[in-house]
Amino acid sequence: MTNTEDLLKKLISIPSPTGSESEVCNFMLDLLNKEGFKTSKYEVGNERFNIVANIGNNPRVYLQAHLDTVPGIIEYSEDDENIYGRGACDTKGSVACMVSAAISCKKQGYKNFGLIFTVGEETDFDGAKKIIQSNFPIPFVIVGEPSSLQIVNEHFGILVIKITAKGKAAHSSKPDEGINAIDKLLETIEKVKSLKIHPNTLMSLVLIDGGVADNVIPGLAQATFSFRVSPDDKNDYTSQIKAFSTANISVEETLKLNSVHTDVPKELSFIKEKKTVKYSTELSFFQKGVVIGPGDIKYAHGPNEQLPKIELKKAVEVYSQIIKNFE
Ligand SMILES: [Zn+2]
Repeated sequence: MTNTEDLLKKLISIPSPTGSESEVCNFMLDLLNKEGFKTSKYEVGNERFNIVANIGNNPRVYLQAHLDTVPGIIEYSEDDENIYGRGACDTKGSVACMVSAAISCKKQGYKNFGLIFTVGEETDFDGAKKIIQSNFPIPFVIVGEPSSLQIVNEHFGILVIKITAKGKAAHSSKPDEGINAIDKLLETIEKVKSLKIHPNTLMSLVLIDGGVADNVIPGLAQATFSFRVSPDDKNDYTSQIKAFSTANISVEETLKLNSVHTDVPKELSFIKEKKTVKYSTELSFFQKGVVIGPGDIKYAHGPNEQLPKIELKKAVEVYSQIIKNFE
């Protein structure tokens, strides 16, 4: 199967919400093996795995996309202009185009490139983390996320900090015998809110939880802050917030994705449009690379997920040109 639209149709017909990617992984592994790529499996757990497919021993560029989707099946459909379905743009469209480009370049004799397909992108990035731990050389990555085929060489990072206040539960008629965890938490929240945050970085208090009943002094309370960290912000907010730890307050970094800033190499100079985005991608782990993918991010995760057929065709050309330029 080499037709890109057929491949995308097939990929959409195999549901792969995060955690349940094994069927799509096995399908991709079979396909790449049949096409003569040297494939490796990187187990991530629960019969899910990343796939690395190489042509040649020293790929100078990897095309990379994730195989999982957000939950909620949207069946494949199409009209003259678009392909619809869960994963159409995020990111099975990129996967299909990368495979088509790789097969065609392999047939033409190009031999210094590879493909990386990951699981787990839509939750905790366990697939990308596994690739990084494997430590094989990855000189440059093209991450296939919907960018309308423009180059994204700069994107925000994510930082999530959870604050836990542990007090001592007591009857609310005897507050002196307890330690009010919600009071402790609120004091700490105020301290976090008074930190000096970089003007381009966004910080929001996103979750709060505490207390058990109206007649109990609360023994436990938690709050979570979410940061969208600008690429030019070098502050270490985790250390700054950890400094607020006390006997009653503990601070935990629950997610960190580095922001990205890459100089665009000459091999990509044939693409003129460049942009910065506030979403984060697996490029946070690879660092050296850019995001280029078909589709518009506004349709990702939504009920109308779609991909213009014209961009599907164009993306195969763009990815092929990239492979050739890095040869
Ligand atoms: Zn997504």
